This record gives sequence, C-alpha cells and structure tokens, in this order.
Amino acid sequence: MRLLITGGLGFIGSAMVRRVLTQVPEATVVNLDALTYAGNPHNLDPVLPHPRYRWVQASIADAAAVEALFREMAFDAVLNFAAETHVDRSIVDAAPFIETNVRGTEVLLHAARRYPVGRFVQISTDEVYGSLGPEGLFHEESPLDPSSPYAASKAAADLLTLAYAKTYGIRVNITRCSNNYGPYQFPEKFIPLFITRALQNQPCPLYGDGLHVRDWIHVEDHVDGIWAVLTQGTPGRIYNIGARNPRPNREVAETILRLLGRNPDLITPVADRLGHDRRYALDPTRIETELGWRPRFRWEEGLAATVHWYAQH
Ligand code: NAD
Repeated sequence: MRLLITGGLGFIGSAMVRRVLTQVPEATVVNLDALTYAGNPHNLDPVLPHPRYRWVQASIADAAAVEALFREMAFDAVLNFAAETHVDRSIVDAAPFIETNVRGTEVLLHAARRYPVGRFVQISTDEVYGSLGPEGLFHEESPLDPSSPYAASKAAADLLTLAYAKTYGIRVNITRCSNNYGPYQFPEKFIPLFITRALQNQPCPLYGDGLHVRDWIHVEDHVDGIWAVLTQGTPGRIYNIGARNPRPNREVAETILRLLGRNPDLITPVADRLGHDRRYALDPTRIETELGWRPRFRWEEGLAATVHWYAQH
C-alpha cells in the first residue's frame, strides 16, 4: 500500500506516521510536509530511519510539486493532515489558512482526480459545526456553522472534498475529530502550553470565565479512528471521531496543575478569544457502530502520561 500522509511532521500526522510504520508492514509512507513552525522532524525520531519512509518538503498548495509526486507514486490512499491549525493565529491573519487549508486541499483533490487514488481522507475538525448551547451533541448531519477563520477554512475544505467526490467520483471520507491531547503537540496549544508554563512556574493564561467546554481525545485514539475509516469506511461518508469526554477548560487547567504539584493560583484569567465557541461535544455513534472503533485511553491516565511526557522532554 502506497500511502501519502501530508502534515506528517505535525502533532497528529506524526502520530499516524509512527503508527503506520510500526503496525502496517505492507505500507510505504510518503510524508509531504512543508515544515512550517508547527512541524518538527524530531516527532518521528522513534521510528526513523525507516526503509519504507520518505519525506518530501513542499507545500500541499504547490501544484507542480504535488502533481509530480502523484504521477511518480500512484498512491493507493491519501491522508490530508497538513493545515494551519491555530485558531488564534487565524484571527490575526487568515491568509495562510486559506492558502494551505483551502487551496492546498484543492490542489491535492485535483491531483487525485488526474492520478486516481483508492481513497482520499480529509482530516477535519468538530470546529466546522460551530458552537453548541448547554445541551446536545454534534452529529455528522449537523449544519456547518464555523466561527473562526480556521474553522471556516476547514469547512471549505470539507465542502470541496465532497464536491470532488460528487463531480469526479473520487472515493473520499471526511473525519471530524474533537480536541486532541498527547505527546509531540506544539506548545502554543492549550494543554502543552499550560504544562510547559506550569513547569516553569509561569502564569497560565485561561480565556474568559474558563467554562468553555472541549471534548478531549487522545491523539493515538484519533489516528486509530482515521485508520478504521481508511480501511473500512463507506466511501463518501463523514465520520465524527470523539471519546465522549467533554470538560470545561478550567477543570482541565486545574487537573494539570494538580498533576504537576503546582499552585492553582498560576491560572490567570485573560480577555476572552474573539468569537470563542462555548461548547463542543461530538456524537461518535457512527464510527462506533459501523466500524467497531472505540477509544482505548482513559482521560485521567492519558492526561497524566501526557504531563509526564512534557516534563521529560
Ligand atoms: P499541527 O499544526 O501540529 O501540524 C500541521 C503540520 O502541517 C505541520 O507539520 C506543518 O509543517 C504542516 N503544514 C502546514 N502547512 C503546510 C503546507 N502548506 N503544506 C505541507 N505541510 C504543511 O496540526 P495538528 O494538530 O497535527 O492537526 C492535523 C490535522 O488535524 C489538521 O488538519 C487539523 O485541522 C486537524 N485536527 C486537529 C485537531 C487538534 O486538536 N489538534 C482536532 C481535530 C482536527
């Protein structure tokens, strides 16, 4: 199986590369990653060098580079992780988000049309659904109602992916996952930011009243779910991936400080993020019942292991 993984030097993409190289002996991996500030080649140190792995440093929005790669490799499957991912950066400047998340996805889909692939999996997010009120869950049929420029760019990529499936018959899936935690995440994101700042006894900035709810899943459970979709998913379907684990941000922050033995006074309220979604919670029934996927990590143990990992690295 010839596999194209884009964004394989990032947090989740690298977890997929590590998984495939250690668990799928018939797979050859090409990792197309431009190495932005968010990528880190050391995320693959546990599995490299490897005879079935190659890194191509180019942007997914570079049509000539993408076309040459598809022509050379005749991929069996594409997993598109590459993206600009930090909501706060998208609020400051949305342009790189449009270029990579929208234009880059279109370039990949165009190549998959000219050099057919067995399956194209677009890695998306629950943020495309917008914000929930106090009750209810996001289902795959929930309307797209993105709040941030990041979420809007991901929703646009989802719609392009579905349009290419309808128009050109490309066999696609879209996975929409909730917030990931685990090792190798760039420390601008909430959990690694709080861990690394608390380790240095620095203030930990918590947005607004801290009661915004995020539905946490371990990164290795996420990539297991994507693999289940790639290998068993019905073409054309969208699959939510979530661990039924919604938590208010303040509770997560307090747990991290407790695990590190730090004073909860390090939590420092700051002005709320513009357009900040209040609550995310995903219904993962489809992937559970159709594909038999279940998360393996328990939150308490997974978070403790993550805190320990950052303390060691
Ligand atoms: P990340 O920011 O850690 O890594 C992104 C990777 O993509 C980096 O290695 C970067 O170098 C690469 N990249 C960026 N622009 C590129 C371009 N133009 N061409 C090629 N490579 C490029 O991201 P992540 O957290 O691992 O997220 C991966 C995917 O999962 C994204 O599509 C994101 O929208 C989605 N997602 C993330 C979460 C989460 O909690 N982190 C949740 C749901 C969905």
